[in-house]
Amino acid sequence: KRLVSGLTKTRNNIVAGMESIFSGFSQIDEEFYEELEELLIMGDLGVTATYDLLEDLKKKVKERHIKEPAQCRELLIESLKEQMGGEADYAFESRRSVVLVIGVNGVGKTTTIGKLAGQLRRQNKKVVLAAADTFRAAAGEQLSEWARRADAELIAGQDGSDPAAVIYDAVAAAKSRKADVLICDTAGRLHNKKNLMEELRKINRIIDREYPDAFRETLVVLDAATGQNALQQAKEFSEVADVTGIILTKMDGTAKGGIAIAIQSELGIPVKYIGVGESIEDLQKFDADLFIKALFD
Ligand code: GDP
Repeated sequence: KRLVSGLTKTRNNIVAGMESIFSGFSQIDEEFYEELEELLIMGDLGVTATYDLLEDLKKKVKERHIKEPAQCRELLIESLKEQMGGEADYAFESRRSVVLVIGVNGVGKTTTIGKLAGQLRRQNKKVVLAAADTFRAAAGEQLSEWARRADAELIAGQDGSDPAAVIYDAVAAAKSRKADVLICDTAGRLHNKKNLMEELRKINRIIDREYPDAFRETLVVLDAATGQNALQQAKEFSEVADVTGIILTKMDGTAKGGIAIAIQSELGIPVKYIGVGESIEDLQKFDADLFIKALFD
């Protein structure tokens, strides 16, 4: 119920158009496909995912000798599910792990880390947070407030200090306290790719060296409300880091939730969580099948 209510705007955006297409056409023709294409693009599925989907739909229509436009709805849902791939992996939750969180300012990175820490604490995991986004003023303070709320331990340096030094201290703390999960808030300044790549490489090297047996996860936080821009950011981050998952925030306030489909099908990187509000409980595991059902059924 919460999932569906968090997606009201995206749903309204897509569903109304679906209704008119599936009931407005009496036969499956080029015009029908064109309208469907337009709807999917408008729903922020992106050009690539939309193209792939329609090709798959056309193939299914032909193979199964479908004649009624209304029957295409089920086929479309089926194609979507196939395109979204299998279930996401949450192994980091049950392993001793280090989670790097990357994202540009304002996307909701700090809030998301707080929510994730809260969720792990509710599973009784021991969580350490590393405030390694030392570049942005007050980021550490904000994270410290979330650490308090989530009941997690925070390791921070001075504003402007070396992120790698914070990571070093945080790894030592995580190991000595036998933390289950170490979540690292790292910077994400995409305007300087080389710089960012170097910083991440440095951080990764420290973790590899100091904590070699830790399970690794690298999550990129994106603001769903920025639509195609979020897809672009995901692409750029995946060029500088081994991204293992995406977190899409602000799904509650946007009609652009279809971007989840675009990202997952175009980049092959699973969306692992979605943010559906500002409070600590407002982070959900992303279930592609449920999501598609909520949007199209
Ligand atoms: P950061 O600069 O990336 O660390 O972003 P913040 O964590 O400071 O978040 C920026 C703003 O977005 C804050 O006002 C958050 O409350 C808000 N925010 C973060 N996630 C969500 C979400 O899932 N839904 C909504 N509605 N707001 C969010």
